[in-house]
Amino acid sequence: MRVPWRRPARPRVFGAVAPEVRFDASQAVPISSFDDLQALEPGLLRPLSTELHVEDLSSRLCPVLMADQSVAILSLPEHVGSDQADELARRVTQRGYILAEPQRYVLAAPLLLAISRNQAGAQQSWQARGPQHEHSRTALAQAFQDMIGWGVRHGASDLHINIRHGEAESEVKYTLSGRYVAPEQFRRMPTSMLVDMLSVAWMDIRGGNGAVFDPLSEQQGSLLKQVDGRVVLLRWASLSADQGPSVCIRLLERQAGTVGLTLEQLGYMPDQIEAIEHALRAEGGAMIFAGAVGSGKSTTLASLMGRLPDERKVVTLEDPVEYLIPRAIQNTVVRDFGAGAPEGFAVKLRALKRSAMNDVLLGEVRDRETGDAFMDLAGSGVNLYTTTHALSAALITERLASDFIGVSRDFLATPGVLKLLVYQALLPKLCAECALPISALWSGDGPGHDAWRTGREWRHWVDHVVQNFGGDVTTMRIRNPRGCRACRKEQVSALVGYAGRTVVAEYIEPIKAPGFLECVQKNDSLAYWRDSLSGKAGKADETVLECGVRKAFRAEVDVRDVEQRLGSLHVHDSRDFRRVSSLRVLA
Ligand SMILES: [Zn+2]
Repeated sequence: MRVPWRRPARPRVFGAVAPEVRFDASQAVPISSFDDLQALEPGLLRPLSTELHVEDLSSRLCPVLMADQSVAILSLPEHVGSDQADELARRVTQRGYILAEPQRYVLAAPLLLAISRNQAGAQQSWQARGPQHEHSRTALAQAFQDMIGWGVRHGASDLHINIRHGEAESEVKYTLSGRYVAPEQFRRMPTSMLVDMLSVAWMDIRGGNGAVFDPLSEQQGSLLKQVDGRVVLLRWASLSADQGPSVCIRLLERQAGTVGLTLEQLGYMPDQIEAIEHALRAEGGAMIFAGAVGSGKSTTLASLMGRLPDERKVVTLEDPVEYLIPRAIQNTVVRDFGAGAPEGFAVKLRALKRSAMNDVLLGEVRDRETGDAFMDLAGSGVNLYTTTHALSAALITERLASDFIGVSRDFLATPGVLKLLVYQALLPKLCAECALPISALWSGDGPGHDAWRTGREWRHWVDHVVQNFGGDVTTMRIRNPRGCRACRKEQVSALVGYAGRTVVAEYIEPIKAPGFLECVQKNDSLAYWRDSLSGKAGKADETVLECGVRKAFRAEVDVRDVEQRLGSLHVHDSRDFRRVSSLRVLA
């Protein structure tokens, strides 16, 4: 039977807790960062794994000497109440040490590894010194798994490990809601540990270039991991930078459930959804989604594919497969590199065309090869869905017709080839629980204070926005940087006050947009864009910037984020502002 752990009743000079008293795991103290560790009283001197001959435990449990000569036990959460931990506590006391109070601490694997490998380290400094403890592969793999796990649980899109060879510590960052942030618990990781960890992680890479992790070359590949029972695809890309390798690992959750989000949940507005649904129902032709890297294009596509009716045969051609789409027949085509499966794109495409499908998802049009595939498929009467990099909906055709991709203008201008062109971006979504009224910007101090402009200037700026775009100022809200219980994310202050992200978009239905296809054919999409902005081309399409402001009036986003992400709002009238925003996208 487990007995709750209590402070030893006897004076500490007698040492040990009675061996029959088991440690109550709920009494262990959580440590979430190096700063937490350094704040410990008494301070932490050095690990004792070698001295106590328990190196083999060091990936799970590590005894450490404190400044008052007592010994504490650092442990992974799942081992803190284990028999092994109790046995270690006994060994500590048998060797004549006094157990610290509190006796045990729980911490994440990378932190534990960083400490336990630093056998010769001194207090206040975790840099590796002297002979280094050789860490087991298991411990390094566990550390990597922890970093991936943290990212997946917090909805990060990327994990970045930036090695700085000249420095004792290197950087671990994540992209969370589009922001590049460093969580507290992965700060100040020893460089040597991270390099070893990357070498171990690379061993599981499939289709990568290079048998081993090579800090001096650019490497790419992918691997699968499980986090909380969910399968996550990791896409690894390293850059050999001046200070050392910079590894960016994209985290792609492949659980079918993630494609279950509706367009509305992604942030599309009712009129935009109507246009998309109309295009979905039309037979044949292409729907193309554009946006920057990380703008959620693939998520939108996956969501679209998920809602196609059962009686349509859906096939995908991707590099690599990013989401598991229910019922779709998915094909990964690895092209640029790859030791295994050198299956040519053209070969795959020929086979695919014989498979009598109704709908095809082509991951991205980005070069000649995919450009040819685009023409091949879009001209064959199937429904084609794809993405490309372009700076606005009207410029998607320019991108496809560029020398780099080489889709012919005559082809693009053929009625029926292009069904719908969408440009999307993601903006942080306000936490509805704690967002502040916009007047907090000009009421001086308090959480609404923003030193970028004075209170008077903010007032003036917001008045301008209201005048130019037309809307009710009283419905606007801004982010509360103090946040609330609903939005206070662990250790990432940049995300406090927000609740995920929302899509802002603009679209063109080419067949309905007067003059658009003619402009595409004549190599004059820019003229079309200008005309639509000045109202000459009939009903001007809403720009992504206007969509952002519309959402600001609906209290979904902070109008300052609209300006920061999508361009200046401070102009004289809405036509001018449109010109400004189009110049921005052309720049
Ligand atoms: Zn909140």
